[in-house]
Amino acid sequence: MKPRILIIYTGGTIGMMKNAETGALEPFDFNGIREHIPELRLFDYDIDNYQFRPPIDSSDMTPDLWVSMADIISTRYDHYDGFVLLHGTDTMAFTASALSFMLEGLAKPVVLTGSQLPIGAMRTDGRENLITAIEIAAARTQDGRPRVPEVCIYFASHLYRGNRTTKENAEKFNAFASYNYPPLARAGININYNDTFIHQPPANERLILHRTLDNRVLALTLFPGIRPQLIENVFRMPDIRGIVLRTFGSGNAPSKSWFIDALRSASEAGKVVINITQCQSGSVEMGLYQTGIRLREAGVVSGRDMTVEAAVAKLMVLFGQGLDADEVRRRMEIAIAGEIS
Ligand code: ASP
Repeated sequence: MKPRILIIYTGGTIGMMKNAETGALEPFDFNGIREHIPELRLFDYDIDNYQFRPPIDSSDMTPDLWVSMADIISTRYDHYDGFVLLHGTDTMAFTASALSFMLEGLAKPVVLTGSQLPIGAMRTDGRENLITAIEIAAARTQDGRPRVPEVCIYFASHLYRGNRTTKENAEKFNAFASYNYPPLARAGININYNDTFIHQPPANERLILHRTLDNRVLALTLFPGIRPQLIENVFRMPDIRGIVLRTFGSGNAPSKSWFIDALRSASEAGKVVINITQCQSGSVEMGLYQTGIRLREAGVVSGRDMTVEAAVAKLMVLFGQGLDADEVRRRMEIAIAGEIS
């Protein structure tokens, strides 16, 4: 049987064309995609399109839109072998992270891609990104199972686990990096899959959709000179349930009592504070220095080598499930979708 692929166009640069008269970038009707990329006709696949109207610039992304994407995938899950989600690059790593936690038990490929240059531009990177993403979404193992049954990002010849990625470059074609997990595949003349790092779901895995998200979360970057008043106010905010604390190095933070006391009060008030390093690569290790040990004593949990994008999305999904603070803390420290080494 021919592979059946659904392309979901949410928005972003990839779906833009330059208006020849005004010079402005405008979204085009994705149903006409084959006119822009005639190579798509060469695929021996059944390819359908779904288009978000209006298309979303991904800097306008919201949890409600993640729910729409997850709904589109889950309601068509049995009908398609793979999904290609076209998305702006700006928040693609957040969306990929959120979907990886919302689509529990996923056993089919969900490949996100986009481009730095619009598909209508002569030097566009969108053409290669889209064509290879489709090929990956349709790829099967010799015994007929999907080759990459997880949420991933394909960009500039690299396939990454979605919840390990970060947008690292606003200029170059290779916009994404996965600092703490190797690429799942590299595309050259052939697509070479890194099978040992690709998640393999157990046979008969069932998709469980988590479609309630709680966005009462916050990411806070520490810096030398941050004011005690600010820390106290932020950690006391009643409307915040989870805080991603972007610490220094291997998870270190000020050791002064105003800081530790604010953290302890927040934890005692049922807020979940998660320690994520500001370093791009490497892991939080809270037992290494005295400052890290004091954070743990104040109730802070280690995010180890999780990205900020994954930590924010994971908090939203876990709180959305109605779990209590202790259970959220417990699950934040373990991998639930391959987001922690
Ligand atoms: N602002 C655009 C977006 O993220 C940029 C892009 O698509 O690369 O939607």
